[in-house]
This record gives sequence, C-alpha cells and structure tokens, in this order.
Amino acid sequence: MKIAVIGAGIIGVTTAYELAKDGHEVTVLERRSAAAEETSFANAGIVAPGYVTPWAAPGMPAKVMGHLFSRHAAVKLSLPLSKRELAWIWRWYRACRLETYLTNRSHLQKLAFYSRTRLHALTTDLQLDYERSEGYLVLLRSEKDSQGVQPGLQVLREAEVQFKEINPEQARKIEPALNPDTPFFGAIHLPEDEVGNCRQFALLIKNEAQNIGVKFEFNTVVTGLSATEGVSIGILNERNARSFDAAVVCAGLDSTSLLHTLRLNIPLVAVHGYSVTANIREALDAPRSAVMDERYKVAISRLGQRVRVAGSAEIGGNINHKNKRALVTLYKVLQDWFPGAAHLSNGVQEWKGARPMLPDGPPILGKSGLKGIWLNLGHGSSGWALSCGSARVVADQIGGKSPAIDDAGFSVDRLRT
Ligand SMILES: Cc1cc2nc3c(=O)[nH]c(=O)nc-3n(C[C@H](O)[C@H](O)[C@H](O)COP(=O)(O)OP(=O)(O)OC[C@H]3O[C@@H](n4cnc5c(N)ncnc54)[C@H](O)[C@@H]3O)c2cc1C
Repeated sequence: MKIAVIGAGIIGVTTAYELAKDGHEVTVLERRSAAAEETSFANAGIVAPGYVTPWAAPGMPAKVMGHLFSRHAAVKLSLPLSKRELAWIWRWYRACRLETYLTNRSHLQKLAFYSRTRLHALTTDLQLDYERSEGYLVLLRSEKDSQGVQPGLQVLREAEVQFKEINPEQARKIEPALNPDTPFFGAIHLPEDEVGNCRQFALLIKNEAQNIGVKFEFNTVVTGLSATEGVSIGILNERNARSFDAAVVCAGLDSTSLLHTLRLNIPLVAVHGYSVTANIREALDAPRSAVMDERYKVAISRLGQRVRVAGSAEIGGNINHKNKRALVTLYKVLQDWFPGAAHLSNGVQEWKGARPMLPDGPPILGKSGLKGIWLNLGHGSSGWALSCGSARVVADQIGGKSPAIDDAGFSVDRLRT
C-alpha cells in the first residue's frame, strides 16, 4: 500500500520503519526541517516499563491539589485554563476511578514491556548506538517518600519487575557520585530499566527507514485530511491534495487539529515539561545512568558526555513561554544530588516540551473509524518507552495481522462521548 505517515517524532519514525519493513511504500510528511524536533527532542530518555502507569489514578487528584501551591511543585496549572483543558481535567478525574485505572494500567504495562522488547530487538539487529545506559535508581529523600512509593512497588511486584529497596550506602555504590552532603532515606534500584537518547534513536531509525525506501519530506505542513476516495492529504502551499491508500496520524499534540478536519474529536492536551542539558564537567561527579528524585519527580540522566535534568508537569500555558520556577527546580535537584557534574556557566540547553496527553492513559493505536485513516498518538509522558511497540502494533493492524499484544485497550472508541 501507499501510506503517508504524518509527523516525524519518535512515534512517526518508528511507525514508518515498521511499515516499510512490511513492504509498504511509505512517505513521511513533517513540518519541521528534521526528525524529532518537537516533544521527542530532549526528554528524560527513561525506559522503565514498570513505571509506565496512567496519571489518572486513585488518590492522584488529592496529590495534585497538594502539589499546586508548593514552591517546587511537580504539577502546575498555568491559569487561565481553556474550556478544552477544563473538560480534559474532568475526564481525567473520572478516569481516576480504581476499576478504570486498573484496566488502563494493565494495557499500558503490556505495551511498555512489549515495546522494550522491540527496542532491544531493533538495537541489536541494526546495531544502534544512542547513548544508552542500564539501571534506574529512584531516590527517596524521607521515610514519607518511601511510604508513598509502596503502592507503586506492589505494581512492580505484580508485573514481576526486578527491583530492590536499598539503603543510602548501597545506593552510593550504584551511583558513586551522589552528593555525600545530601542525606536521604533510601532508594529503589531497577537494574533492568535503562536510559537512552530518544532523539538520537529517532534520527538513527529515520536513516534505517530511508535505507529501506521510506521517503521523508521535511518542511511539509499537512493542513487537512479527507477519506472519501482513498485518503487525500492537503499540504500548505500545494494546489492539489496528495493521494494515498492510507495515512497514519503521528502528529503528537497537533493530531487534534488535523483530525478535527475529519470531525474526529480527540481529547488531547499539552502537559508541558522542561529539561536542562549540559556537558559533563567531571565524569566522576556525574551519574552513571538515570536517577529519579521521587519527591520532586525530577529525573537526572546520563546521556553520553552530557547530563540531562527533566521534570515538571504544567497544564495550560504556552510552549514558547518558559516558567523560570520550573527551571529553578531542575537546577536545584541537580545541585542536591550531583553538584559539579555539569558545566552550567555556558552551553546549557534549556528546553520546554509538550507531552501529548490523553485523559485516561493508554495511547490511541489503530483505526480512526474512517476508512484508510489510522492513529498512533497520545503517548503522554512515556512516548519514547512506548514507541517501538506502538509502531509494531499499528503496522500489524494495517497489515491485517494480529498484534503480539491485545490491542483492544488502545481503541479510539473508548474516548468517544
Ligand atoms: C520533560 C519531558 C520528559 C519526558 N521524559 C520521557 C521519558 O523519560 N521517557 C518517555 O518514554 N517519554 C518521555 N517524555 C514523553 C515523550 O517525549 C513523548 O511522549 C514523545 O516524544 C511523543 O512523541 P510523538 O512522536 O508523539 O510527538 P512529537 O515528538 O511531538 O512528534 C510529532 C511530530 O509531528 C509533526 N507535526 C505536527 N503537526 C504536523 C502537521 N500538521 N504537518 C506536518 N507535521 C506535523 C511535529 O512537527 C512533530 O515533529 C517526556 C516528555 C517531556 C516533555
């Protein structure tokens, strides 16, 4: 089939690769001048399938309320909120019910584990090098933080994830550069989890996709879709629409406006986050892999010769306006755990990204309800961890094959009102 993939973020490039592997003629249409220039650009890079759980969870509304007014809050509301964002919050609130949460969690985790298997298979088969390192350490500042993670540890046990609850001395053996002057209660060590550079992986997979025939068209803005006879795609500054047998919408947050042209309403909002990336000053003072400060929900990742600090969840606001306080929190957390690890006086990259978030958790994978239009979107805070599995599932669906995991929980129908 002649298939268009709209968007060259991590979801679009992995989808294009899998479709081309199945023998389709694939064209990727991307408005930016390169792949992974938007949300897939500078995320934390963590692949920890046991931690891929819905944000819509019992007890979350109270937790979020508790965060809103604290100085280094992990969750922020940027007021005023739009009608769309308010409607999304209401749907999120309803999805926090225990039964809904458990169902969504089960779907998400199956996809996350499958995705890691696919990521490893691609890494080995194609010999990809994307600043990957193994191991993930969740740092618990206090006994209260330790109590707070207990329900999450139960989830890990149920998913048979390997982990150990360890004391500070053991944690310092795993991450010897942890600041000796920052006391903490303990940590959770997940040796099978990992961190890697999502953007670098996306660029490598894009090259591999090109090698097997995928055509990438950059600086190409898709303006609309129609699904009357085959699929027609409108492109900015092109007089005639382009024709394809099928299209896969992987346009991250902006999938909403594209699908609106088909009268398909997807409740997707931006949950903004930030990262700071800097060159390592002294390797012995830097993390070996990834750590997460559980209290501030800030990750510190080692990416080759650089260190990246990422976190914050801001509903509302504008991608072009950086909230100074969120950045201050990132610098504070880096300073608390790895002072002196990075050159912070020059060459620092401060980035803001928009997680494409659905109210209930699982992404949408598969049919849109309109002939020829397929969806792979709404991966929220875990798009990198879910990308390789999502791409394979959608390629199987398009090819009429049964995906390796049950795909029923990812249907768009669950979000129709
Ligand atoms: C601070 C932060 C930390 C994160 N940490 C992690 C993490 O540790 N692990 C993890 O798994 N995930 C993490 N994420 C989430 C992850 O980055 C996202 O889920 C993922 O990047 C989404 O990928 P995407 O391809 O759907 O979207 P994008 O990367 O945004 O790609 C969409 C593409 O579509 C293109 N596009 C949109 N509209 C059009 C149009 N009309 N025409 C043509 N092209 C179009 C865009 O230009 C863009 O390139 C984090 C996110 C943030 C913000």
